Amino acid sequence: MSNTFNPEMLQLARQFRGFSQSALSKSMSITQGYLSKIENGLMEPAEEMVEAFCKCLSFPREYFFNQDRVYGLPVSVHAYRKKATVPQKTLDAIQAEMNLRIMHYRKLLKSVDLAKDYELPYLDIDQYNGDADEIAFLVRRSWMIPDGPIKNLADFVERAGVLIFVCDFPAGKIDGVTLAIRGMPPCIFLSKNQSADRMRFSLAHELGHLVMHRQPSPTMEDEANKFAAALLMPEKDIFYQLKNISIQSLAALKPVWKVSMGALLYRAGTIGAITKSQSDYMWRQIGSLGYRMREPAELDFPHEKAHLTSEILELHMEDLGYSLEDLMSILGLAPEDFGNLYNFKQKPRLSIVK
Ligand SMILES: [Zn+2]
Repeated sequence: MSNTFNPEMLQLARQFRGFSQSALSKSMSITQGYLSKIENGLMEPAEEMVEAFCKCLSFPREYFFNQDRVYGLPVSVHAYRKKATVPQKTLDAIQAEMNLRIMHYRKLLKSVDLAKDYELPYLDIDQYNGDADEIAFLVRRSWMIPDGPIKNLADFVERAGVLIFVCDFPAGKIDGVTLAIRGMPPCIFLSKNQSADRMRFSLAHELGHLVMHRQPSPTMEDEANKFAAALLMPEKDIFYQLKNISIQSLAALKPVWKVSMGALLYRAGTIGAITKSQSDYMWRQIGSLGYRMREPAELDFPHEKAHLTSEILELHMEDLGYSLEDLMSILGLAPEDFGNLYNFKQKPRLSIVK
């Protein structure tokens, strides 16, 4: 642990708590100018000030002396809807949370070898003439995914060494974010506040970015959506099932393919299993039944679970002998945040003699 106060950690903690500079300085009875100078590294806070930050922001002292670097938002943030406007404060809080998680796993991964079952392929979309379907097919091939529906996509993605973090992002704002940074496995952040079918599609979409994109481009979001649809619903496997579809058959296919009725209908249109007028007619029906907002609850299925990040924590406790206090101390986290971020409960070590 270094002796130098890291002003970037202060800014991160403030954003994580959803404070603007002016709000935090007011609640601490200091001037915004003073806070701003500390955050910019122009002034070193005195010891009492550090304690006040700990108290006000609920982070342990060691957190502020962490020397990790902070990353900006990645090239692609997958918004809930194309035109959804996400307020800056929300983006700041999301960015802060991602940074905290990355810092935690950077530390934890020092003691863990991530055994990969598959490689994560890099197939530059420009080398494939923008053909995301072809790339999705190649990913299925290289991971030896059986034909037909993918039973558990999260499992494949984790076995390719990708860390999946399920986060409490504000509902209806951000579905997923991908970060590929040096010295860390690729990380996908998914909002837990989305339906299971949507979360699977978001995961496939983010995987598409990891596989196809190194540079941002105006077409990358469409490409990632095409990739996701093709990965989850390969044309050759699904074409005949999507012929002459009705609301009933969409409802029957949803639990099999584990994608929304909307995604199935959209796919039926793009692969030409139905005509344009059939598609228009079906969309009108979907709309009038209110399924655009909410598909029938009886077709809901459970969310896929990501395991890798909690296994890494468990390994520290069970095999490396870390106590919960040790973990919170090396991660620089208050107990409440630890519980909220990692939904982690220590297994009882003692049991009653029967
Ligand atoms: Zn995206």
